[in-house]
Order: sequence, then structure tokens, then C-alpha cells
Amino acid sequence: MILAVDIGGTNYSLALGTPDGRILERTTGSTDRSGGAQWMIERVLMVGRRLIASSPEAVTACGISFGGPVDFASRRIVNSTHVAGWDNLAITETIQRALGTPAVVDNDANAGALGELTFGAGRGCRHLIYYNIGTGIGAGIIIDGEIYRGANGNAGELGHVPVLPDGPLCDCGNRGCLEALSSGTAIGRRGEEAVREQPRRAGGIRQAANGPVTAKAVFDAARTGDGLALELVDETCRYLGMGVAAAMNALAPEAIVIGGSVAKAGRVLLERLRKQTDRFLMPVHRPHLKIIPARLKGNSGLLGAVALAAASGGENQAAG
Ligand SMILES: [Zn+2]
Repeated sequence: MILAVDIGGTNYSLALGTPDGRILERTTGSTDRSGGAQWMIERVLMVGRRLIASSPEAVTACGISFGGPVDFASRRIVNSTHVAGWDNLAITETIQRALGTPAVVDNDANAGALGELTFGAGRGCRHLIYYNIGTGIGAGIIIDGEIYRGANGNAGELGHVPVLPDGPLCDCGNRGCLEALSSGTAIGRRGEEAVREQPRRAGGIRQAANGPVTAKAVFDAARTGDGLALELVDETCRYLGMGVAAAMNALAPEAIVIGGSVAKAGRVLLERLRKQTDRFLMPVHRPHLKIIPARLKGNSGLLGAVALAAASGGENQAAG
């Protein structure tokens, strides 16, 4: 049995998971940002102890999906942009010491990619690219069934592929990154700008938003055929298509899996994204273009953590 932990800036979840991807028991709560890392670790240990005690089988490994940069090799969290106190934190050592279980940690995009590969939309693939389009754009690259980490461990940052020279400032410090134009946050911001600049065409988006413009409002309005919203979605998909085509030209994966809150937009997003990606792809890659929605949805973090623990051999090591 695997103890799965999903730590995000908004919510956290813990569960018992089987190596074949069943979630047996699950606890979810809101992250108390003011409590910092200390609060979260106390929660994880408390709920983890309870789950281990209630498990029908011995818990032999713990997988952690973390919403921020992770140094996979040293099994440490690098930091969190949302919550204080995570800098260079050896969460895996804390868990091993307190719960007696070997632990492995990775960022949520890599964990999500492994989860989709093992249990979700990417089953049967050897090479795939996973995008999590939400507040930001995270990505994980799978090559030959394993996460590709590169020479310094930080490969896979496809949200920071530049798609617009001198474009909007990104959290990473550069300008015109895919994330700065096509994340949920960026779509909401561009929607707000469009509504301000073109008030006469903004009725549909305003109505869908009923307050500040969000990505969801833009997609909801686009689905009703609203002209301004459709222009925003087309523009979003043009940037995404540039980013996805760059990744596909470089890596030739069998599938591109799209997850995260923006993926909930469904067909209105995916159909345009396919068209735009096709446009930017080298002809030799076009017949192989396969963009599919993620399947794990609400359990993506937890099942990613399960897949991570299973892939790291923690399950077998501890059991054998
Ligand atoms: Zn960036």
C-alpha cells in the first residue's frame, strides 16, 4: 500500500493508494497558507498516521506531489511561491523519521504526467508530454516510460517556452513565456483587458463573468458563440499551439495530455488547440498529432503521487 500526499497552495489531500491505482481512503482540506510549511507538515503527519493505522495492508512507500519546485535527486522541496517555510525542506526525511516509510517527492506536473501515463489518458504510451494548465502552466515530459529530468533536474518547463518576444512579464522573470499568455491567470487578465478596450463587444463575457473576468468566463462565453470571447480563445490556442508544436517537433511524443482547470473548457479549447498546433508543426510530425484531455481529474495529484512512489521502486524496495 502507498501513502499518497498531494500538497498545493490552495488544497491538500492524503490517501491510501494501491500500486494498481485505486484510491481507498481520502482526506482533503484547505491549505492554511498563514501556517506555513510547519502547519502542512503537521497535518500530513497526523493524517498520514491515521491512514497508516487504518490500512488493511502494510504501507511500504509514500509518494508526494508538491505544487512547487522540487529537487528530485536530493528528495527536497526547493521552495513554494505561495506558502512560506518550504525552502530547501527535506520533507521525505521528516516523513521517513515520523512515519517509518520511505518517501519520494516531485513537483505536481511531473507527478501528474506519471499519473496519466500509469493510470490515465496516457496508458500504453512510452513517450508523452503532459501539460497542466491552471494558475500557471506546468509540464512533465515522459521519455521511454520515465520522467525526463535533464542534466540539472529541471527539464520539462514547457510553460516557459517563449512564444511572444517582449510579451507580458512571467513569474520566472522573462517576458512572453507561454504561461504569461495562456495560463488560466493570463487568460483572465487578457479577458479583462479586452473587456476594457472593447466595451461594446464585451456584453457576453461580462455576463458570463458576473464580476472579475476569469478564464472560465471567457470559455463559457465562447461556448455560446460570443465573438470577443472566441477571439480570446483563438489567441490563447495560437500561443499554446506554438508551445506544443515546439515540444512536439523536439520530442515526437505519442500523445499530448492536457489537464488542469483550463482543460475543463473541453472541446472549445481542444479543437482549436489541435488546429493551431497542426499549423505550427513540421509536416513530418502532423500525422502523429494527438492531443487528448487528462483523465484523472480530481485525483490527478494523488494518483500521480502513487505512480511516483511505485516508479521510484519505493513500494518494491520496502516490501522486498
Ligand atoms: Zn516564464
